[in-house]
Amino acid sequence: RKFIFVTGGVMSGLGKGITAASTGRLLSNAGFDVTAVKVDPYLNVDAGTMNPYEHGEVYVLKDGGEVDLDLGNYERFLGVDMTSDHNITTGKTYQHVIERERAGDYLGKTVQIIPHVTDDIKRRIREAADGSDVCIVEIGGTVGDIESMPFLEALRQFAHEEDEGDFLLTHVTLVPNSKNGEQKTKPTQHSVKELRSIGLQPDVLVGRNEEHLEQATKAKIAQFCDVPTEAVFSNPDVEDIYHVPLMVEDEGLDEFVMERLDLTGEALPKAER
Ligand code: ADP
Repeated sequence: RKFIFVTGGVMSGLGKGITAASTGRLLSNAGFDVTAVKVDPYLNVDAGTMNPYEHGEVYVLKDGGEVDLDLGNYERFLGVDMTSDHNITTGKTYQHVIERERAGDYLGKTVQIIPHVTDDIKRRIREAADGSDVCIVEIGGTVGDIESMPFLEALRQFAHEEDEGDFLLTHVTLVPNSKNGEQKTKPTQHSVKELRSIGLQPDVLVGRNEEHLEQATKAKIAQFCDVPTEAVFSNPDVEDIYHVPLMVEDEGLDEFVMERLDLTGEALPKAER
């Protein structure tokens, strides 16, 4: 099974979820069974108690799970039904680990974020991915937030545990324009530096700007962030977010990802999943 993790840098509300869902859509068009997991690094167990004015509408899943609206994007983009197991929150994870601690499951050990919480996060991701060819895992929040640290650490461990070629990290960042209309790469450089300081090197970079990234912008990002220029993609503003998959397909995101993950473009036979 292949895993694509999606993180975000510079600021939230950037379009991480849409980028992740679009990547999934392209792989599902290529014939793969794609599922998604959304990680929300807040202490609420689920989104059911959150003020919709502050957080956006709560999305209700078939199993009654009250989750982040991003799950709605995944269901619509991928054409699949999800369950509450596809939304992992800090609250859910901690609640489970603390319940296990009270039940004596840890046999007297000191219960810690590493390894007990990170193990629980990895277990949840693997269970939610069960039965799919490709699982897209979006880590909510922004790299550098205290809240997302246990998830990013779990991700770092995950990358080591999976075979090379089964794991890919996409990082979505903001590429702002300067006053004279130049596309600036510094925020991207800083956010990749932040990722690397916790042991993560992105494989794919997606830059959000009003327009497509210029070739020179891509080359600069590639040089500073240690990826080939072909690994840098644009995700410009569009009127209709359902155009995003087509737009990133035009830039060859699907081909790049499939080549990196050694997905031949044909759906994997069930036996190889
Ligand atoms: P994040 O996951 O980074 O918080 P989302 O994917 O939820 O961000 O997107 C944030 C907002 O930006 C949503 O309202 C979404 O519809 C919008 N958005 C995302 N990508 C684009 C795009 N390429 N063009 C226009 N709007 C976009």
